[in-house]
Amino acid sequence: SRRGLLYGSAGVAAVSLAACGAGEESDKLTGYTGIAMPTTTSDRWVLEGADLEKRLQALGYKTILENGEDDIPTQVRQIQSMIDKGVEFLIVAAIGNTSLGEVLSHAKDKGVTIISYDRLILETPDVDYYASFDNNQVGVLQAKHIISKLGLDQNTGETFNIELFAGSLDDNNSQYFFQGGLDTLEPYIYSGAVVIPSNQTELEPTSTDKWSREVARDRMTGLLEEFYQDRPLHAVLSPYDGISRGIVEALVAADYEPGSDDFPVITGQDAELRSLKAIKEGTGQSETVFKDTRLLAEVAVKMVQSIVEGSTPDVNDLGTYDNGFKFVPSYLLDPVDVTAENYQEIVVDSGYATEEGIDDAP
Ligand code: BGC
Repeated sequence: SRRGLLYGSAGVAAVSLAACGAGEESDKLTGYTGIAMPTTTSDRWVLEGADLEKRLQALGYKTILENGEDDIPTQVRQIQSMIDKGVEFLIVAAIGNTSLGEVLSHAKDKGVTIISYDRLILETPDVDYYASFDNNQVGVLQAKHIISKLGLDQNTGETFNIELFAGSLDDNNSQYFFQGGLDTLEPYIYSGAVVIPSNQTELEPTSTDKWSREVARDRMTGLLEEFYQDRPLHAVLSPYDGISRGIVEALVAADYEPGSDDFPVITGQDAELRSLKAIKEGTGQSETVFKDTRLLAEVAVKMVQSIVEGSTPDVNDLGTYDNGFKFVPSYLLDPVDVTAENYQEIVVDSGYATEEGIDDAP
């Protein structure tokens, strides 16, 4: 598909680098970077695809942007077509973490540098760098929000009912989010301060295929019917804003009243406008984890730039992300906890969102 094929204009860096050498160096500057994003159902990837293109084009690189719409074969085809067009760099946010080995081996045969973007690509030696966030910390922040909102205490004997939701099983990040959350709640589970009535405490039964809001809504509906006919639900650990909104939908359908004292504490991730609105107005989830995707795009683009300039990209972690073949050199950014108290400072003042954008969210 030619959709998304854009041609960049020569930027300052390209001009100055092109001026300093012929042959290989200048060839690189006219080369393409392929950007493979996973879905348009979650706002962040749409913003990031455009942001990555803008940043690369400002440096004089041409870009090819595609979105896989949560379909693994589509993403594989898109990447193969980028390789056929002669990309020199691939920035890939994978849909299926183990599904890209073959296509990436074709890329490697042609000398393409492969940056795994946000989600680690597994079971291939052909990933060169990983740009992401401290994904374990995302879950830690979510669990800490629940602990502080409910005032969990291991010694008072008070118990709270909590349910856990995880992300898509084919996304390597899911286990990190989940583990970070579970480890943080664990002492309270052992002491009895936290009870999980469904007993679903592992990744698989709590997972949400393709991060789908509907899948999460349906699972929540089932949990309410089976385990909460005669007990209160105090909190839900949710890994992503879309999932959080699905959970809220199920609760509303079961006559829970958002904003009331007995509405459960619900977490989230990505600072999507609709979720920020709920946080601001107190009408749903009370937290989201903000990952500044502008910084992530900047990290990935700097990796490209360093390689073009003949240097080694900056990384800050060499020992966390094992993809089954190797520890992939990583640059990890810090996620930030966002609530009604600090959303203005963190999300609005930094220019990521506006008050109007939040207020006008559907
Ligand atoms: C990302 C999250 C996002 C989720 C769903 C994960 O891989 O790290 O930021 O919420 O995918 O798109």
